[in-house]
Amino acid sequence: MFGYSDRLPALREAVRRFVDDEAIPRESPALAHDLNALEETTHLLRAKAREAGLYGPQLPAAWGGLGLSWRDRSVILEEAGRSFLAPLAMNCAPPDQPNMINLLTDGSPAQQQRYLAPLARGETRSCFAMTEPEPGAGSDPSMLQTVAERRPGGWSISGRKWFISGAVGASFALVLARTGEGATIFIVDADNPGYRVVRNIASIDGFQIGGHGEIELHDCFVGDDAVLGEVGQGFAYAQIRLEPARLSHCMRFIGRASRAMSLAQDYAKRRSSFGQPLAQLQQVQAMVADSHIDLHAARLMTWHAAAKLDANESIKHESAMVKVFVSEAVGRVADRAAQIMGALGMSEDAPVSMILREMRPFRIYDGASELHRSTLARRVFKESRAP
Ligand SMILES: Cc1cc2nc3c(=O)[nH]c(=O)nc-3n(C[C@H](O)[C@H](O)[C@H](O)COP(=O)(O)OP(=O)(O)OC[C@H]3O[C@@H](n4cnc5c(N)ncnc54)[C@H](O)[C@@H]3O)c2cc1C
Repeated sequence: MFGYSDRLPALREAVRRFVDDEAIPRESPALAHDLNALEETTHLLRAKAREAGLYGPQLPAAWGGLGLSWRDRSVILEEAGRSFLAPLAMNCAPPDQPNMINLLTDGSPAQQQRYLAPLARGETRSCFAMTEPEPGAGSDPSMLQTVAERRPGGWSISGRKWFISGAVGASFALVLARTGEGATIFIVDADNPGYRVVRNIASIDGFQIGGHGEIELHDCFVGDDAVLGEVGQGFAYAQIRLEPARLSHCMRFIGRASRAMSLAQDYAKRRSSFGQPLAQLQQVQAMVADSHIDLHAARLMTWHAAAKLDANESIKHESAMVKVFVSEAVGRVADRAAQIMGALGMSEDAPVSMILREMRPFRIYDGASELHRSTLARRVFKESRAP
């Protein structure tokens, strides 16, 4: 129905093998919060993903990737997303994945050679720095406090960013700063003397390569060639990355939540209570059934948006609906999986608790559910959209 390519079944099988044989066996609770070990493991797995022909599913072939359509990608990213590590290994994890979109779409040829080429080869990492501590930009980007002022030959950027995924050890950051009336994205090298990662912010999730950093920019001078695309277009470029970024997140997290439910189903079959396997208890069955309903709806919504992207159609409206529904659905699925598994589901002896923790912030980043709902409803009334 959604028009997948002929090469998809074999590729999916290869990703499944890679996830089961290479990625999942290397997962461990210790790795979830050890940034150095996570970096090392990612490099090791990246070489294996390349050997297996699985590297860069979303990257164009000219940049060393598989050049998959959005529809094929939705299946492959879900498969890879079952594991915390496989998307990193295949270089289709955020923030590098959406940063590559920005560099591909808006970067100059020189910027693409300098920043995109090593990023696409998996030799460097990057981060995207938009959010700021109070009173700066969060849900409302127009509250941006970081300022870039013109200087001879370039710009001086000052401000503070936080929750910047991947910041620790990133080679460069895409920094959103106010320039006059609008905002501009600047490519800032991490070794710029005015740029400093102040700390890694310990957060609810794990397995984030480069953590979630707090960054200080103090009179950080960059040349005119550091401007990504055009001055004043920063918010528009941020939007360009956000729709595909959200959809890719949905794909990976559908895989992760499915894995949590698979583990819960196995547990329910082998574990008994009061003389019956949990799988025969109606309340457990209801949790399993509701999770399958959630995942089925999540997949269909994601695949539909992917098909629209392949047809070069706008997903402005769908993107918000998919993001709200999928982020909440995968959270419900992971929560039920943990519930079915009892104490084991609360522990680090099984990956379900970390999956649950990973799903929670997805309702906040890439636009909080409440924000998407209010934007959706406003559009509905403004355009008199029929339900
Ligand atoms: C794990 C994680 C990773 C992240 N990675 C990055 C990154 O790489 N780069 C980056 O720039 N940022 C990143 N962020 C930050 C993220 O983009 C922001 O948290 C998000 O935009 C919300 O901003 P805020 O935290 O300031 O919340 P606030 O703006 O303070 O909002 C708080 C809450 O208020 C409610 N709310 C806000 N506005 C509205 C509204 N209009 N209508 C109804 N309710 C509303 C919502 O419930 C919202 O959750 C990350 C965050 C997390 C948790």
